Amino acid sequence: MRLTSTSDLWWKNAVIYCLDVETFADGNGDGCGDFRGLIQRIDHLHRLGVTCLWLMPFYPTPDRDDGYDITDFYGVDPRLGSLGDFVELMRTARDRGMRVIADLVINHTSAQHPWFQDSRSSPDSRYRDWYVWRDERPEDGPQGVVFPDQETSLWEYDRKAKQYYLHRFYKHQPDLNVTNPEVRDEIARIMGFWMELGLSGFRVDAVPFLLETAGSLDAADLPEPHDYLADLTAFQRRRNGEAVLLGEVNLPYPDTMPFFGPADGGGGTDELTMCFDFIGMQQMYLSLARSDAEPIAQALRERPDPPEDGHWATFVRNHDELTLDKLTDAQRTEVFEAFAPDEDMRLYGRGIRRRLPSMLGNDERRVRMVYSLLFSLPGTPVLFYGEEIGMVEDLSLPGRFAVRSDMDWSAVDEQRRDPGSLLEWMRRLVDAYRECPELAWGRYTVLDPGVDARPVLAHCCDTEDATVVALHNFADTDVRAVPKLPELAGKPLTDVLDPAAKPVDVAADGTLAIDLPPYGCRWLRT
Ligand code: MG
Repeated sequence: MRLTSTSDLWWKNAVIYCLDVETFADGNGDGCGDFRGLIQRIDHLHRLGVTCLWLMPFYPTPDRDDGYDITDFYGVDPRLGSLGDFVELMRTARDRGMRVIADLVINHTSAQHPWFQDSRSSPDSRYRDWYVWRDERPEDGPQGVVFPDQETSLWEYDRKAKQYYLHRFYKHQPDLNVTNPEVRDEIARIMGFWMELGLSGFRVDAVPFLLETAGSLDAADLPEPHDYLADLTAFQRRRNGEAVLLGEVNLPYPDTMPFFGPADGGGGTDELTMCFDFIGMQQMYLSLARSDAEPIAQALRERPDPPEDGHWATFVRNHDELTLDKLTDAQRTEVFEAFAPDEDMRLYGRGIRRRLPSMLGNDERRVRMVYSLLFSLPGTPVLFYGEEIGMVEDLSLPGRFAVRSDMDWSAVDEQRRDPGSLLEWMRRLVDAYRECPELAWGRYTVLDPGVDARPVLAHCCDTEDATVVALHNFADTDVRAVPKLPELAGKPLTDVLDPAAKPVDVAADGTLAIDLPPYGCRWLRT
């Protein structure tokens, strides 16, 4: 039996909240969000029950890719404040019992980064090999281009260097050469720097691209990419044993699993601590479009268990377009037609630049059901700022900025005073999730809701101490679900989300019969 301590593995039942300092709260009245504003508003997040902040990039940037184009990995963009303000945030967050992680964007730099400027200046530059240069333009197909509407190739000719450089993203974002040991040392220094200032880990941007060496280099005897990720993890743990790496790995489940590290049976994660569940998320939208729980149920049945110390990170929306790239063409068309009928709502042919409530026709029953599902699913829930108040997108803004508009503080103030608001529902869900440790720690099973209950996702999570059964109705009709729970035969279950509701008995034959209203949801616990 392994020694485990639940609070050591704090991420297993964390509530992570992603925000961009620039759009969250303006503390100095110059129209741009900043660290002071975030500090002033941190009690909103504390009351919501957030346990970990995830900060989008706040580093100095020419801002041609919303801060994901960095010119100094050791600084704070002056529009957002100073390093001093950053440390004040760390101190304030710690005071509220919140951890903080931040985006680690090390696949590329801004083309304006002094390293790149030096690199292109001369073949003898000490930074020349920090990027990937080629005399001839290598072959690449359009499938490798991340932003097909903007870029047609992964390689750009630089007149000063008289060579081509690799850029997986925009041409103003040259890829770093992570096979260079000096670059690897520098990346470790960057991580060490921010951990010294209090960060509890990083959300690692574009992990498969970061590790990618195939096609970009000629030598066959390159270092194994996963060894590099394991090295980074080992380095991080030497500095801070409870720090995490939350990875952006949008691949099918079997291809995602290796990013947790080799399955050694010891329960530890040698590489990423958490990977986002992109597959489950996309199948959930297919379920919503069809009013049929089967796609999400199927994804949950197929989803491999991560190592015991690791976790999936679950989410409804994030800061990017809602990517539907892992659905079939026909499935993607179904979701587009249901939730993004206008061409202007779609992006790159693979995603939707809208937030949840507007996609669901602002039907609050449906919105509440989706968030109930998020908090009841096995995995660490990650919220994107504004979701707690039902913010919608602003399609007048270009591209992904539609979902990155300024936080609506007047709506927060209004909803705080209304016990029936979405914000209060979200607080109740967070409380319930934190009070039911079996959701984070237990074994989960997808249940058969019964032949007449296809719209219902029924699942249970159990430990030796308790079981939670969750039911979610994806349809606009009343549905009776009749899952079987033979171990709980004859036992009463209490309603977790509605303490006033009467307990429900599981029948002597193990059947739990529950009538759900349209888009209804219930959590029942032993
Ligand atoms: Mg400001």
